[in-house]
Amino acid sequence: MSAEAVTRFREYAAQFLGNLGNYKGFGDVKFLPRCKKEDVEQLCKAAGLQQCNAAVDGMFVDAQTTTQEAMLLGFPAKGHVSGYYPDSPDLTQGEIEAIGEFLGGKELLPENTRVKKKGGTYEVLVASAASKVEEVDVDTNDRKKEWKVDSGVLKGGTITLVYGDSSNDMANVAQNIKKAQEYATNETEGKMMGEYAKSFETGSQKAFKESQKLWVSNIGPDVEANIGFVETYRDPAGIRGEWEGFVAMVNKERTLAFKKLVDAAPTMIPKLPWSRDFEKDKFTPPDFTSLEVLSFASSGIPAGINIPNLDDIRQTIGFKNVSLGNVLGAKSPNEPIPFIKASDIQVYQDQRDPAFEVQVGIHELLGHGTGKLLQETSKGVFNFDPADPPISPVTNTPISTYYKPNETWGSVFGPTASSYEECRAECVAMALACDFEILKIFGAGDGTPDINSEAGDVLYAAYLSMARAGVVALEFWDPKSEKWGQIHMQARFAILKTFLEAGEDFCRLDYTDADRLDDLTVHLDRSKILTVGKPAVEAFLQQLHVYKSTADLEAGRTLYEEKTRVVGEFWQRKVRDVVIRKKVPRKVFVMANTVVDEAGDVRLKEYEAGLDGMIQSWAERDI
Ligand code: ZN
Repeated sequence: MSAEAVTRFREYAAQFLGNLGNYKGFGDVKFLPRCKKEDVEQLCKAAGLQQCNAAVDGMFVDAQTTTQEAMLLGFPAKGHVSGYYPDSPDLTQGEIEAIGEFLGGKELLPENTRVKKKGGTYEVLVASAASKVEEVDVDTNDRKKEWKVDSGVLKGGTITLVYGDSSNDMANVAQNIKKAQEYATNETEGKMMGEYAKSFETGSQKAFKESQKLWVSNIGPDVEANIGFVETYRDPAGIRGEWEGFVAMVNKERTLAFKKLVDAAPTMIPKLPWSRDFEKDKFTPPDFTSLEVLSFASSGIPAGINIPNLDDIRQTIGFKNVSLGNVLGAKSPNEPIPFIKASDIQVYQDQRDPAFEVQVGIHELLGHGTGKLLQETSKGVFNFDPADPPISPVTNTPISTYYKPNETWGSVFGPTASSYEECRAECVAMALACDFEILKIFGAGDGTPDINSEAGDVLYAAYLSMARAGVVALEFWDPKSEKWGQIHMQARFAILKTFLEAGEDFCRLDYTDADRLDDLTVHLDRSKILTVGKPAVEAFLQQLHVYKSTADLEAGRTLYEEKTRVVGEFWQRKVRDVVIRKKVPRKVFVMANTVVDEAGDVRLKEYEAGLDGMIQSWAERDI
């Protein structure tokens, strides 16, 4: 093979491992090697691999036989590819949905199942180490494993549970979970491991549910781990889970900074541009932890997680809201940074991580954590004085709108709510990041306000990042529908607009080529952050906050639509085009392993951020 072909194959291998398959983890589209099929066949031969023809065929596209549909994951009867419905090209979407409904009636959770159609029999394959599970041990409410169906699209067919799907793998996982159980740090963790093992051995999703309840109850462990069939994105029917697992550690330094920020809330919240009337009597910080991932095995690595997905657990026991610090902050070596001026690159590179930490901390805790909804809580009972209503700082007149009994923020603001709230939280971050006491909490400076200090560098980087994010956001605006596809990016665009409209030349976009905008950069006047930028953000934030507090949908929606509207050829085409042209490729994450050394100590083993590192880190997991 030529050196180039070898590199192309290594690139493919790294992408394959990063997506856990040859269909993109986000987007479900098939990707192909950039080397030739003959190259891979030759490689197989050289490696002494027999019978790899089917695998090699599956990697490539055959001009004669491969259809357009086969390039996408989806329902097999529509010609798409799916691992959830093996060897069942005739299994229709209607049948799949009917099976889902039927199993729902039997209270069998479908996450760890697949379906195979064999004539008139629908085999529901259950992932478990055991291939024989007694009827008394199955999860179904009638304790049966087989049923004749006498109505609907499945009429005349048989549904049967077949245990032992992926049995070798499930046995391996169960066995290792049991070994981990010996090292549980508390009783809850020990029980959790027990339920995991039971679930993976017997295929019981009830046991899995128990494991998840225990996981949520295990509050603030140093090491967090979760494993199982969790997210259902890859199943076209959206109910069957993808196997995934992660291990992560609490970032103690950051956790301490978050705690200090929460402690400082009573002095910080009054600095926000609204009176006590629009604030809760007692600040209750939202549940939020920041973790560093050791290893995350999944087809796509999220920047944060909010699980379990099972609604009844979320409502009765709760969930964990976790941000993954080293995923959010991950950078490729020599990654280009478009739209930042050459004179700003150094400070941006040095300070963007600390700036991001400040931003995330304030956003999550003081952003989402603040604000009171003025409400008639039940008929005739108000959580404010209706005879002497609070004065709106926006209009300087008494407020006239509020939440009626049973109304919620989501029910009143509907589809506008989620992005609007993200924008409010981001604005709180931009307003309070200007407070040098807060910068000090995060280790920047000694609390003395000085925009030209190192703490000032962090603040400057935070503003630059926000402005840049507002530009990059256009990737997520769809010119056809003229709609935003990503709520956080929509929010950042609104803040960029606020910067641009702040006046006094605080912020502008610079370029010499007015048509292609190839050298587009963000200009932000550091010396005016405190005097021009901050007041502009505060004015916007005040409106967002008061309209939210007072259920003023009309004013709130008008404001937010206006701020996030992408108008004119400059934004719709020129800026968006250059953003798309300069888009940084999607990342593949190289993850560390742990090994036990000769002395019996656990060592962290990291790998270089490149193709070989990616492949090696997987090879050394020995799976
Ligand atoms: Zn948020």
